[in-house]
Formats: sequence, structure tokens, C-alpha cells
Amino acid sequence: MRKRLRLGIMGGTFDPVHYGHLVAAEEALVQFNLDRVVFMPTGEPARKSDRRVTPAEHRYLMTVIATASNPDFTVSRLEVDRPGVTYTVDTMMQLRTIHGPETELFFITGADAVLDILTWKDSDSLADVCTLIAATRPGYDLCRFEQKPGPGALRVETMEVPALAISSTDIRSRVAAHKPVRYLLPEAVAAYVRKNRLYEGAV
Ligand code: ATP
Ligand code: MG
Repeated sequence: MRKRLRLGIMGGTFDPVHYGHLVAAEEALVQFNLDRVVFMPTGEPARKSDRRVTPAEHRYLMTVIATASNPDFTVSRLEVDRPGVTYTVDTMMQLRTIHGPETELFFITGADAVLDILTWKDSDSLADVCTLIAATRPGYDLCRFEQKPGPGALRVETMEVPALAISSTDIRSRVAAHKPVRYLLPEAVAAYVRKNRLYEGAV
């Protein structure tokens, strides 16, 4: 029997992508024995309408630059090319259709986002198509994600990753304030940010 493909999906705004994202994806790859991790930059983010998000093409390219040297990482244009508001559930269901039942899908996310996801009205449909991998800080209380097991419950696996204190918000405000961002994100991404003068105005 052919081995089932195990695919990790790392969704995010990636405005900009940073080492927190990359470390979490690498850790998921190894801990959960994934065949590859697909980074999925959002198109029009559903949950970030409160601030101006950098155009999708820039965020897509920064993600490509950051992942280019890792043979187990790829970047998908699925959400970037889809017009309108993006919902994770729709993307995961579309991936389920594309890959068929023989592929196991894992949605990788930070612990902060898991609590959100569990309260979505569509989290039941998400449970049908994928398992959630939640990245937590070492020492974080993992019990918070314990789900009542049962049919239809979203499966949530947890993993500890270092580097969780890095965030895109902090990087954007550092760029705006001319503070250093070196060692928080790949140098080539930082160069792209400078070249395109991203985040110079505000956060
Ligand atoms: P922002 O500050 O704009 O919200 P962010 O740093 O949280 O940006 P996102 O693009 O929102 O980055 O996050 C994409 C995914 O990566 C989310 O699931 C988020 O929880 C997770 N994530 C963000 N930062 C880290 C980190 N340092 N370590 C592990 N996972 C992270
Ligand atoms: Mg975030």
C-alpha cells in the first residue's frame, strides 16, 4: 500500500515572514513526520481588516525568498490568487478536494490563533478535513487545548517551539522606528523590505 502523503499547511499574513514562522514549520515537519510544509500567504485577510495589509504579491514574494533554500518548504498562491475574503476553512476544504482522501492535512498555527479557531462557527467543518498543530512556547500550559474527544471534534496536536516571541507586528514597528530587525527574519527578506520601502510609515 502506498504511504499516505502528510502535508503541513502554514497559513499566515506573513507581513513579513520571520524566523518564528520558519522555526514552527521546521519543527512541525520533523515532529509530525510531514512530507512537506506549504506556506499559504493570505489574500484579503478576513481577520485583519483593522490595518492596511501589505499587497499580497509582496508578502508572497517575501515568503518565497524565506523558504527558497529549504527543499521541504513550498509556497502556494491559492489564497493570493483567489479574489475576495479568505477563510481558512474554505482553503482547507479546497486542498482536501485537490489532494483527495489519501493525503493527511495538518494546519500549523500559533497557540494564539488556535483559541480563535476553536470558536469559529466553521470549526466543525475544519475538523472533517485536517488536524491542527499548535505551536506553543516551551513551558506553556498545553492543557488549554485539550478538546473533548468525540465525533466531529477538531483534533489538536501541540508542539513546543523556541523563538515564539518574534512577531510581524514587532518587526513592522521596528522598521518604522529604524530599530534593528537583524536575526529576527532572514537577511534576504529584510533586504526586500528595505528595497521596497515597506513598513516605513506606520504599523
Ligand atoms: P502579526 O503580528 O501581524 O499578527 P504574526 O507574527 O502573528 O503577525 P502571522 O502571519 O499573523 O504572523 O502568523 C501566521 C501564523 O504563524 C499564525 O498561525 C501564528 O500564530 C503563527 N506564528 C506567528 N508568530 C509565530 C512565532 N513566533 N512562532 C510560531 N508561530 C508563530
Ligand atoms: Mg498574528
